[in-house]
Amino acid sequence: MTGRVYLIGAGPGAPDLVTLRAAEILGRADVVFHDFLVHPETLALAVRAEKTAVGKRSGRRSTAQQFINKRLIDAARRHAVVVRLKGGDPMLFGRAQEEIDALRRAGVDFEIVPGVTAATAAAAELGVSLTRRGLSRQVVFVTPRAAQGERRNDWAASVLAADTAVLYMGAGLAPTISAELIRRGKAADTPVALVESASLPERRLLFGSLSNLPELARRTGSGPAIVLFGEVLKAALARRGPALDEEIDELLRRA
Ligand code: SAH
Repeated sequence: MTGRVYLIGAGPGAPDLVTLRAAEILGRADVVFHDFLVHPETLALAVRAEKTAVGKRSGRRSTAQQFINKRLIDAARRHAVVVRLKGGDPMLFGRAQEEIDALRRAGVDFEIVPGVTAATAAAAELGVSLTRRGLSRQVVFVTPRAAQGERRNDWAASVLAADTAVLYMGAGLAPTISAELIRRGKAADTPVALVESASLPERRLLFGSLSNLPELARRTGSGPAIVLFGEVLKAALARRGPALDEEIDELLRRA
């Protein structure tokens, strides 16, 4: 007898941004393998489960994906309800396909439970719709990060082509991103927003333009951060631009 593996989206952080379905399954989980960033209150929903942190923590080495796959399969052979709990939505930048393929090959039953992804959580924080009549009918989710040996993706071409672009795992590369996009012809005054720790009390929203993105990135802390580009941000930038200046003044005063 093998159990079932649930690949569950934990959402962007806030424990009340977890779906009811996720909460119900967590409540009867026997084992939970979770990303490091999952909120303790979300983990606490898995009252009776044995919990193990796997996956990536920024700046540290990640648990090898094949090892995670193997642990999921082994656990399904011993338990009825096995959960792989991932930040945001499991099907975006979460290596879900590798886990799905491994489970299929091993003949293990699985189910996916979607979650709120960082891009939409960030849009909510900003109060800015990613699509907008007449301005943005196309949104791109892209990352400049590629694993070693992976085919290089032309992330810059995607950002250049998009009305609105949302860059995952990119804040740490802000100087490269800004320089590369400007070199490839993106306007230096393209509105940019950087959102750190969307949905959490320690959230930070920073507004600027493509040319000062590196400066915005320097002002973020250690939380996960996402970068948004596009004209849809213009009104928010106009509203919040002074706030950024005040914040910079405040930081300088404190320094
Ligand atoms: N599957 C996740 C993404 C995993 S990749 C999802 O759907 O959201 C990890 C990246 O997601 C981070 O580098 C960051 O760019 C973004 N991210 C995750 N949580 C975030 C949050 N609360 N606020 C801002 N960005 C976040």
